[in-house]
Amino acid sequence: MAVQRLIERFNLRSRLRFDIDAGQIWLDESRMLLFHAKAIGALRRELFDSLGAKRAQGLLFRMGFAAGQQDADLASKLLGEGDNFDVFQIGPELHAFEGLVKTVLMDAHIDWEQGCFFGEAKCENSWEAESHLQQFGIGEDTACWTLAGYASGYVTRFFRRFIVFRETQCTCRGDPHCVLVGKPVEAWGDDAYLEYCRPQDLEPSLRELQRELWQLRGGQREQHAPGRLVGASPGFRTAFDLLGKAARTPITVLLLGETGVGKEVFARWLHENSERAEQPFVAVNCAAIPNDLIESELFGVQKGAFTGAQQSRPGRFERADGGTLFLDELGDLSSSAQVKLLRVLQTGEVERLGDDKARKVDVRLVAATNVDLQRAMAEGRFRADLYYRLATYPVTIPPLRERKSDIPLLVAALLEKYAPIYHKKLPGLTDRAMQALMAHRWPGNVRELENLIERAVLLVPSGTRIEVEHLFAGCLPAPPCGAAIDRQGLVGNADEARRELLYDSLLDDGFDLQAHEARLLELAVRRAKGNLTHAARLLGITRRQLAYRLKQASGENRPSPERT
Ligand SMILES: [Zn+2]
Repeated sequence: MAVQRLIERFNLRSRLRFDIDAGQIWLDESRMLLFHAKAIGALRRELFDSLGAKRAQGLLFRMGFAAGQQDADLASKLLGEGDNFDVFQIGPELHAFEGLVKTVLMDAHIDWEQGCFFGEAKCENSWEAESHLQQFGIGEDTACWTLAGYASGYVTRFFRRFIVFRETQCTCRGDPHCVLVGKPVEAWGDDAYLEYCRPQDLEPSLRELQRELWQLRGGQREQHAPGRLVGASPGFRTAFDLLGKAARTPITVLLLGETGVGKEVFARWLHENSERAEQPFVAVNCAAIPNDLIESELFGVQKGAFTGAQQSRPGRFERADGGTLFLDELGDLSSSAQVKLLRVLQTGEVERLGDDKARKVDVRLVAATNVDLQRAMAEGRFRADLYYRLATYPVTIPPLRERKSDIPLLVAALLEKYAPIYHKKLPGLTDRAMQALMAHRWPGNVRELENLIERAVLLVPSGTRIEVEHLFAGCLPAPPCGAAIDRQGLVGNADEARRELLYDSLLDDGFDLQAHEARLLELAVRRAKGNLTHAARLLGITRRQLAYRLKQASGENRPSPERT
């Protein structure tokens, strides 16, 4: 009986794309690598030689586990598009597709309700057994650790339950073929084997070595991301080092940078790491307060100062007494407010509006702007004396597009922040989603990234990876281009592959060519607003041909549209 491969039935071939221009291969959302089996075999050999068999086996198992999980993500997306068992079987077939092994499931007991699996698989042409034999010859041990890891990772992720596979027969031991047996972790009751599944604690000596290495590299790991500031890129570190040096001094700091780079987060960090940390942190966005109100906001009002001032109240300066006042968008301050601000900075005293009493304030000022203050000064919009007072210690925060290497760190921090808010457990992003983030220009900087991640967390189902579609919902960047591989194994155009995917999906649900033709004609006529000449052009046929087909499609008893 000729069996249609699942790879074909679920159109997985069209999800494999070769983008030679970009030097990338993609399987759906995952970046793939086409390696020489010999090269991986050599690496595998070195792992055994340098780490010993047990540790090498564990590493290989966990590497396979990670691959199996990725493929399970892909298969899980197809649940509902076919029989559950067929979708499950995509795993072994993908493994074959990727060229690692041919697996036949011999025996499987699956409880779909409970998500439980007991099963046994026969493996042939295992790349790993082949490589192991070449490198080590026949021996006592089974060798297919990445395969056992893959099966475990795949089934575990698919059923969301820890299922562990173990190789019970292997050609490397002289068995006729390799056999993997899988069952839930608790059914094994073999702690020694299960050790392979867990990342082993590094030996103390190795850990010590690692710490020394980090310190040699400038102690990067240990210093990164104190508090809510996240970053390790050179641009971030330059800004952060400057900030760190100013933290415990009284100096006025001027934060410069585009909108959305996180100036307030920097200001807060400065406050929290200063000697004033226990005192208030007061933030004012000067651009958000109307000009005629900004002075009373900042400096306070005495009762009766103007109509409507029925009560005396302190301004933000007084409220920040002892602590830090953060003035954001300072470039938008009116000129009379600039004069008053300068006086406060010079004297350390504020006068409320309508009051002649000076009040001492002890405030550390942090100012921020995305305006070019020097230009504003040259154009007479900003006082030079105030500028020189504020600009003693400028810190420029780089835009996100200049610190893209921080994106993975920022994304991890944002997921940690938003996943609990939306009650989700999220394993992270797909490779393609991360690549889309790295390729984006980020005009809105970190704030834009934060918005994108929050929306993606909202959209993605719990337990699955965030994909490009979740991030750029409704505003997709250009689809990945490149070549896809077709049924004959030929590399073709990805657009064509997508088109083929469309036709293919049409065939899946009881196709009716005539009905589809009628529908297409109708759509074209509607889009052309009834103009048959335009509609014919949309369909790539003549007006006469269209009129004829419309007549056919509408049958005998319905008149054809007579509009042109
Ligand atoms: Zn084997």
